[in-house]
Amino acid sequence: MDKADITIIGAGAVGLACAAELAGEKTRLYILEKNAFFGAGGSSRNSEVIHAGIYYPAGSQKASLCVEGNRLLYEIAARNGLPHRQTGKLIVAANAEEADRLEALCAQGRKNGADGLEMLSARQLNALEPAVHAAAALWSPRTGILSAHALMEYYLTRAEADGARLVCRTEVTGAEKEEGGWRLFTRNDHGRTFDFISALVVNCAGLSSDTVAGWAGGRYRLRYCKGDYCVVSGVKPGLVSRLIYPAPRSSAAGLGVHLTIDLAGRMKLGPDATYIDRREDYRVAPSKAALFHGQARSFLPFLKPENVHPDMAGIRPKLQGPDDAFADFVIREDAPGFLNLVGIESPGLTASPAIGRFVRKLLAG
Ligand SMILES: Cc1cc2nc3c(=O)[nH]c(=O)nc-3n(C[C@H](O)[C@H](O)[C@H](O)COP(=O)(O)OP(=O)(O)OC[C@H]3O[C@@H](n4cnc5c(N)ncnc54)[C@H](O)[C@@H]3O)c2cc1C
Repeated sequence: MDKADITIIGAGAVGLACAAELAGEKTRLYILEKNAFFGAGGSSRNSEVIHAGIYYPAGSQKASLCVEGNRLLYEIAARNGLPHRQTGKLIVAANAEEADRLEALCAQGRKNGADGLEMLSARQLNALEPAVHAAAALWSPRTGILSAHALMEYYLTRAEADGARLVCRTEVTGAEKEEGGWRLFTRNDHGRTFDFISALVVNCAGLSSDTVAGWAGGRYRLRYCKGDYCVVSGVKPGLVSRLIYPAPRSSAAGLGVHLTIDLAGRMKLGPDATYIDRREDYRVAPSKAALFHGQARSFLPFLKPENVHPDMAGIRPKLQGPDDAFADFVIREDAPGFLNLVGIESPGLTASPAIGRFVRKLLAG
């Protein structure tokens, strides 16, 4: 490999979705990934929820790419037999004030194009989910769950069928502009270094995407925001069959501790949102079990402290600090031939097929 037409840095859901869209028989496309496998970063440490696009400001890329991604993901999953389930989601209000906020959220979601949103009374909620307690709820039928790994495998298979090559255990350590493209410097996990020229670079480096963007003059500063999960055990399987979220608080960096169900029917609480130093520490403190139980028991009254156990964690690459206003995804060519995707936090998995298409159209001019 001495020359590439396109190099994608990072083999997470977004890098692979871009590869699937950009690969072509006549294009030498490489995906470079520092880990031993694809999808070992944020893309394997999330809730695997297909979001509907409710929460984000109208006109933002988070809203539009999420709504488009939602539609595309159900199509892709159905057509290719990817494990998924359209569970639907209930956002629950504890009181009349929260119910008013859900009405506003419902209007926001409809404006964004999220289909089928509906306010439910306590009685209607009870008919759907008798084990859940709330004064009212916002019902989102387009929310669901899917296997993130199967989705990434699908993207990679598509990209490889069109001639793309995934090179793992290879970190890109720097880039310099040269005649004909960008010289990329790499190091493999045996410490061997190697460099080559790529006409086009697409930065999908997740938690490192601000550093990578900096090589091409992009000035971004990501904040790491950790989300811990707890697993629920000892509860009757199927007691709750939809995803249950509390009403969001405006200041919250996440969506509040909520209940998700994975494809195996396992219930999980989380993720919460804690800004941390810039390091990848995925340990979950044992104290999170009691904390999550305390936050969720008002709407999930069947939960007992002994049902909740610390599980896994993920880290969001956020452009938004704890007290900052909303920050959108950044998808921008900061220097000719160097496209940066920065701050691709939630709903990045849902949005991934739409991001891939957006990048293809952007590069086609
Ligand atoms: C706790 C949590 C919950 C979430 N829940 C959801 C959800 O339910 N639904 C949803 O839609 N989204 C969710 N998200 C968001 C979603 O997971 C991400 O937006 C998405 O996975 C981002 O994919 P990515 O490819 O951009 O990043 P990543 O998956 O992090 O991939 C980046 C890759 O780049 C590689 N890399 C970095 N630097 C270099 C380098 N210099 N050289 C080579 N390789 C490099 C990394 O090793 C990594 O594999 C959640 C995120 C978190 C943290």
